[in-house]
Amino acid sequence: MDAHQLPPQDKALRTHELLNQAYKRLTLDSRRTPMHELISTMLSHRTTHADEVLAYNTMLERFGDWEGVLNADVDELADAVKTTRYPGQKAPQIQQTLRLIKEDRGEISIDFLQDMPVEEAMAWLTRLPGVGLKTATLLLLFNFRKPVLPVDTHVFRVSQRVGLIGAKVTANKAHDLLLQMLPHEAVELFNFHKHLFWHGQRVCTFYTPKCEACVLQRFCNYYQDVRQKGIDRAA
Ligand code: SF4
Repeated sequence: MDAHQLPPQDKALRTHELLNQAYKRLTLDSRRTPMHELISTMLSHRTTHADEVLAYNTMLERFGDWEGVLNADVDELADAVKTTRYPGQKAPQIQQTLRLIKEDRGEISIDFLQDMPVEEAMAWLTRLPGVGLKTATLLLLFNFRKPVLPVDTHVFRVSQRVGLIGAKVTANKAHDLLLQMLPHEAVELFNFHKHLFWHGQRVCTFYTPKCEACVLQRFCNYYQDVRQKGIDRAA
C-alpha cells in the first residue's frame, strides 16, 4: 500500500510523530489566566496578536478589573478595544459574557471549569456569546489541560490536505474526528495542535504550500493527487 493510502488514523499518528521531530516539543504551561484567555480570544478575532494585546491592556488599564469592564459605558469600552476589528460588536459581547458569568457563578471567574467534566465544560462555555468550539477547546486545553483538540484554520487545512479528514468534513466536525485518532493526553493534543498550526503557517500555506520542503509529503493526499498529476502532465 502506498503511504498516502494509509487509513486516516495511521496518518494522524504518523503526522504527529513526524511533526514532533520537525518542530520543538512544548510543555503545556498556561501563559494566561482563564479569564484573560477567554476575553483575549474574543478580541483576537480577525486581529493581529499585537493589536489584541494592546486592546486587552488598554481595556484593563482604563477600567481596572472585570467589574470595571462590565460596568463601563459600552462606547468607551469599544474605544478602548479599537485596535481590534469590529470593536463595536466586541464591546457589548464582552460585557454580555461577563454578565452571564457573574449571574451564573456569582463572580467573574471561570476557574470552576477545572473541576467540571469535559462535555459539561464544553456545553457551558459554548453557551457564552461568541464562544464556539474552537475557543472552548483552546481554553479547556491550554488553561485546564483537558483532553480536547482545538481546530483552527491551519490545523483544518493541513488535516484536510494530508487526508486525516475528508474534503466535506466541517471544521466543527473535525474537532471530534481528529480527537478520536490521537492519544488523549493533553500534552500530546497540545503539541499536535501547535505543530499543525506552525506547519500551516510556515510550510503548508494557503496559496502556495511548500510541498518540496514538507516532511508529510510521502503520505499527503494533496501532494500525491494534485501536485503529482500536475508534474506528470508537465512531463
Ligand atoms: S505535502 Fe504539501 S500539501 Fe501536503 S502537508 Fe505538505 S505542504 Fe501541505
